[in-house]
Parts: sequence; structure tokens; C-alpha cells
Amino acid sequence: MDLFEYAGELDYGEIHLKRDAETGLQAIVAIHNLKLGPAIGGCRFIEYGSSDEALQDALRLARGMTYKAAISGLPHGGGKAVIMRPANLTDQGRERLFAVYGQFVDSLGGNYITCEDSGTSVDDMNIVHDQTEHVLGFDPDKGSSGDPSPFTAYGVRRGIEAAVKFRWDREDLEGLTVAVQGVGSVGHHLARELGQLGASLVVTDIDEDAVTRVVDELGARAVGVDEIYGVECDIFAPCALGGAINDQTLPQLTCEIVAGAANNQLLEARHGVALMEREILYAPDYAINAGGLINVAQEFVGYDPDAARAKTSEIYDTMWEIYERAQRESVPTHMVADRIVEEIVFGRILH
Ligand code: NAD
Repeated sequence: MDLFEYAGELDYGEIHLKRDAETGLQAIVAIHNLKLGPAIGGCRFIEYGSSDEALQDALRLARGMTYKAAISGLPHGGGKAVIMRPANLTDQGRERLFAVYGQFVDSLGGNYITCEDSGTSVDDMNIVHDQTEHVLGFDPDKGSSGDPSPFTAYGVRRGIEAAVKFRWDREDLEGLTVAVQGVGSVGHHLARELGQLGASLVVTDIDEDAVTRVVDELGARAVGVDEIYGVECDIFAPCALGGAINDQTLPQLTCEIVAGAANNQLLEARHGVALMEREILYAPDYAINAGGLINVAQEFVGYDPDAARAKTSEIYDTMWEIYERAQRESVPTHMVADRIVEEIVFGRILH
């Protein structure tokens, strides 16, 4: 990979590296775009096979954050940090490592604001908070916003309501069946929200306890992990991993709407085209799942959960605009979302 060529393809931006021999810190902060404001994005702390892999992850994720913030009308750019997790890290070692990471974030002068992502916790952000003010998602007792997943789920619910209104001109989900793939943090909250709107729920998860929880609590019907794609339903809600819409799963779908919380639902952009050709309305992932970011961004102006919820509710309008424009221009919804962002951020359509 030629670094500057790849960075150019993704319209970067800044890339910062920090190595600290004493703590074993190897961190990358990718700042994709600062046009709308300081970049917000989580810090991923996982094991990577190589620094190239870590770099690509940071670049791809930070760019996604630019798009998510812009489509949500937030005054923020996109950034992301990855830390290559060292093997055999002790608790003390972890604390020291995150302290140095906090100093690194601080050295960027507020252009990048960090928070949790895979592998990082509120405890880690508390340590970062001792070193810098450019951090969100630390201890709720100190005025921070806590778990973002109920907000993400609420935003997905609003995006689904918009899709249902758009497709069937209906306000509720009474009598509709929603298939939820993955009932972890967001999927569980979403299932609860949709159940309250009258939906029948079909669920799956690789974690049997997670399935039992929604079956017992919400009367959902459980199916096998591979069965979820072909299950009779009106709406398919991917809330597990990326790539749920691909060559193998697409022909199995019976739904008219795909709308869920997972990031990167389309394995490739052409799968968004295929959904449109099958007249399945697709809710672009980074637009519908922005509730967590909207919530954490509220901290930046002084956290108020009611204001965060009201702003998250506006996902309905964002999604409506996307669905309408896609229909008007006969363009797939994921492409419309990209165009809206690119017009806002770059003043022109890039792709
Ligand atoms: P989570 O880990 O709590 O839940 C994911 C669930 O999916 C788990 O219960 C897991 O067992 C299950 N799962 C994994 N592989 C599966 C498979 N093959 N089939 C069925 N189930 C499977 O994660 P989460 O925080 O609920 O996030 C869910 C998705 O939403 C992720 O893609 C995440 O990136 C995205 N997202 C989350 C947030 C948030 O606020 N947490 C915000 C935006 C996007």
C-alpha cells in the first residue's frame, strides 16, 4: 500500500503516530476531515496482525465518522484512534498505556476528541480524562453520557418508522414482522422499542443467553443464525457484524426494508444497488445508527439527555430525505447518503 496514494483516495486529512517504548503504546490517530469542526471518534484497542492492518482500520473508520457526523448535522469532523493491543498487558500496564495515550490526544490540541470503541471502556476514558479534556464517554458521575446503545437503538427505531411511513404510509408497526440479527446492546434495546410499536419479533444471536433474554422478555421467536436471512418478515434489522448484505444473503431476503444498527452492512457498494433493483428500501447504516454519536456529541456542549434524545429523533427526517431523494433521482439510498455528505463537506459529489 502506498500510504499517500491510499490517503489521497480517502481524501485525508491528518495521520498521527505515537510510539512509547516504556508502556508499549503504539497508537494511530487518523483525522479525516476538520471542515465542520473538531473530529470525534472512538479509540479501538484490539490486537492487529500488522501496523498496516491497524492503519487501514483507522483510516477507514475515521472517514466513516466524517460521514456519520455530517449526515447528522453535527458540527464535527471524523477521526478515529487505534491502539495496537500488546500481548500480556497487566492492569497497571494498561493504566500507564492509557495515560500516555491521553497525553498523545492532548498534544493534538483538540482537533481529535476521543471516546470508547471496541476494546476500550469507561475506565480507560477516566484515565485519559486525567490527561486531557479532549475526551468523551468517561464516568457518568462526572457529567459524561454513559452507554450510547439506547440512543443508537432509538435512532434506528426512528429511521425504521420513517421507512415504514415511506413504504406503506403507516405510523405504527402493528402486524409487521421485524427480523433482528444480533440482540446485544443495541439489538436488545431496538427489539424492545419495536415491540412497543406493535411489531412481531424474530431474533437470532450466536449468544444463546442474549436470545433467551429477548424471548423471555418480549415474546420474540428465535431462529438459527443462518435462518434469519430467509425468515418471512417485513423488515430485516442487521444489528450484529458488518457485511450482512452480500451475494449469499441477498437472494434469501423476503423483506421490503433493511434497516438496522450494524456498521458496514453492505459487503460492497454494489449490494446497495442490488437491494434497489429488488425494490428493497435500504436505510444507509451510518445515517440510521448515528444516535450514539449524537448522544456523545451532546457532551461537547454540556450533556443533556433530553436534548440528545430530541436530536436523535431527527434521524427520522434525515432518513426521510434520503428515501425521497433516492426515489426522485432513481439512485440507491446508500449513494444518496454519500452524496448529501459530500455536498456538505466537500462542496461536490466525489464518488
Ligand atoms: P454487541 O456486541 O453488544 O452486540 C452484537 C451482538 O451480535 C452480540 O450479542 C453478538 O453475540 C451478536 N452476533 C455476533 N455475530 C453474530 C452472528 N453471526 N449472528 C448473529 N448474532 C451475532 O454490539 P452493539 O454495541 O449492540 O453493536 C451492534 C452493531 O451496531 C455493531 O455493528 C456496531 O458497530 C453497531 N453500532 C453500535 C453502536 C452502539 O451505540 N453500541 C453505535 C453505532 C453502531
